[in-house]
Amino acid sequence: MEQTQDKLVDCLCCSSNACYESEFTTQEGPLNTWLCMTCGFTTNSTMTEDSESLKQTLELTADLIKDLRQNHDGLAWFPTAITMPDKGMIFPEPIKDKDDWGWTVVKAIPIPEEDKEKYPDPTNPGTFYKNKMDMKNLKRYGKLAFMDAAEELGMFAKPVETNED
Ligand SMILES: [Zn+2]
Repeated sequence: MEQTQDKLVDCLCCSSNACYESEFTTQEGPLNTWLCMTCGFTTNSTMTEDSESLKQTLELTADLIKDLRQNHDGLAWFPTAITMPDKGMIFPEPIKDKDDWGWTVVKAIPIPEEDKEKYPDPTNPGTFYKNKMDMKNLKRYGKLAFMDAAEELGMFAKPVETNED
């Protein structure tokens, strides 16, 4: 899969102008993906009604995410959920009731050497995870603050500052 183009477009979910559109070339043809940096909703051009990708997404996705689904231009959009084993996770969570929700960030922290045998890696028998999710230190963000949540997690490699005095 080769990425050919990306740009910011207006978000169909929240109308901000920070929806990141990427275009890929795949063996099956062109594929477009969208991820809004304001509301955190995501979709791609295969997520049409009755499609196999939508069916799979619905099978693998938590109820809250399914409940928040939006449909625009024939595509199903869902809030994203991101897990980066070395950095942490971002996922949507209800705040008080199911009509109000926000983003939760959990950071990955190193597992102390003496505890490491409690965290075997099932995909690589004999090896152990280096990091675990620090569930005791959650950070919460408003539903239109996905960008702040993503920055907290370090999703974006920041450019090196050359003159910071
Ligand atoms: Zn949006």
